[in-house]
Amino acid sequence: MIYNEFAGERISALGFGTMRLPLKEDGKTIDRDLAFKMVDYALENGVNYFDTAVPYHSGMSEIVIGDALSRHPRESFLLADKFPGHQPADSYDPAATFETQLRRCKVDCFDFYLMHNITESSWDVYSNPEHGILKYFVEQKKLGRIKHLGFSSHAELELLRTILDSEYGEHMEFCQIQLNYLDWTLQKAREKCDLLASRNIPVWVMEPLRGGKLANLCERHTDMLKGLRPDESTAAWGFRWLQDFPEVKVVLSGMSDMNQMVDNIKTFEERKPLTGSEKDALAQIAEDLKSSVPCTGCRYCCDGCPMALDIPTLVAAYNDLSVQFSLTPMMRLESMPEEKRPHSCIGCGACTGICPQKIDVPKIMEDLAAIYDRSPKWSEICVQRAAEAAKIKED
Ligand code: SF4
Ligand code: SF4
Repeated sequence: MIYNEFAGERISALGFGTMRLPLKEDGKTIDRDLAFKMVDYALENGVNYFDTAVPYHSGMSEIVIGDALSRHPRESFLLADKFPGHQPADSYDPAATFETQLRRCKVDCFDFYLMHNITESSWDVYSNPEHGILKYFVEQKKLGRIKHLGFSSHAELELLRTILDSEYGEHMEFCQIQLNYLDWTLQKAREKCDLLASRNIPVWVMEPLRGGKLANLCERHTDMLKGLRPDESTAAWGFRWLQDFPEVKVVLSGMSDMNQMVDNIKTFEERKPLTGSEKDALAQIAEDLKSSVPCTGCRYCCDGCPMALDIPTLVAAYNDLSVQFSLTPMMRLESMPEEKRPHSCIGCGACTGICPQKIDVPKIMEDLAAIYDRSPKWSEICVQRAAEAAKIKED
C-alpha cells in the first residue's frame, strides 16, 4: 500500500469511501456481512482511511462502518465524518449532530472531520454566526475530539477562495474536491488544485472515477486502454492518473463489492506513473465524455424530490439514450411505474439547487420524457418480434 504523510499521520493513499456500500437484493438495505468483510479486507491489506457522512445510505453508513470498525483496535484506522450543513433544515444544531455521529460511529473522536459539500448555497449556512457551526467545530478540535478539520466542496473557484480567506480559513487543514481526468478541465479541477497548493492545503480526492463512469467506459475506450496496459482495469487508469499528484494525500473510492476492493487495493500497492502518451489517451477519452451529463450518482437530490423520482437512474438513462437509441435504458424506463418516469417531474427545481454538479435536472427530465415518447417501446418490439417469429415458422 502506498502511504502519505500528513500532519503526523500515516494515511493510506486509498481511502474507503462508504457512500456506495454493498446492498442486499432489495437494492436499499446495506449488506452488513459483506460490508464487514470489506472493512476487514481493507484493513488487512493496508487501507487505514475510512470516510462516512450523515447522508450516505440515509445515516446507515455511519452505523454500519462504526459497527464494523469497532471490532478493530482504534489505532488501526483513521475515521472521517462530516457535518451536513448542505442539507436543508429548519435549524442546525452542530453539538447534537456531532454527539450523535460519535455515538453512531462508536468512537470518542474523529481523526478527520469535514464541513460537507460547501457550495454557493450551503456557504450561507456554514458561515452564518447564528448557526455557530464553524465556531463549534474549531472548539471541538481544541478539545481533541477532532484531530484534523477540513471541508469538502464542489464550489466554483471564487467561493473556494472566499472560504480560504474567511476567518475560519486558517483552521482548514485539508480540502476534499472532485478530481479525475474528466473534471481536470470540465470542472476546473486544475485551477482548484493550483489555488489549494498556493495555500499549502493538501487535496483529498472524491469521485476519482466520477461515480463509476470512468470505470465503465464504452468498448472503444476500454479497448484503447487495454491495448496500452493489458493488465490494468479501466478503474486503475483513473487512479494511476491521480497518483501523479504530490498534493493528493487520499483518494476515496466508493467501493461496492469485493472485486472492486481487490482491484483498487492492487492498484495502490505501488505507483506506476502514466507516460505522456498514456495521459494523452485519457485526455482524448475525457474529450469524448464531455458531451454527457456529469451525474455522479451521489443521490443528494433524491430526498428533496416531491415526486420521489430516482433522479440518478433517470439521468443515466438520459446519458445512454441521448447518444443513440439503446434497448437497455428503454427497458429500465418502461419497467418503472408510470409515476416514477421522467414525465412526473413537476419542474420544482428542488434538485437543481442541491446538485453538486449543477445539473439542470428538470430540463434533463423534460428531454428524457420526449426521448421516451418518440422511441420504440420494448413491449412493442417484443410483440413485433413474436409476430415475425410466428411468420417465419408459418413460412
Ligand atoms: S424538478 Fe423534478 S426531479 Fe427535480 S426535485 Fe422537482 S420533481 Fe423532482
Ligand atoms: S443529479 Fe446531481 S445531486 Fe442528483 S445524483 Fe446526480 S450528481 Fe447527485
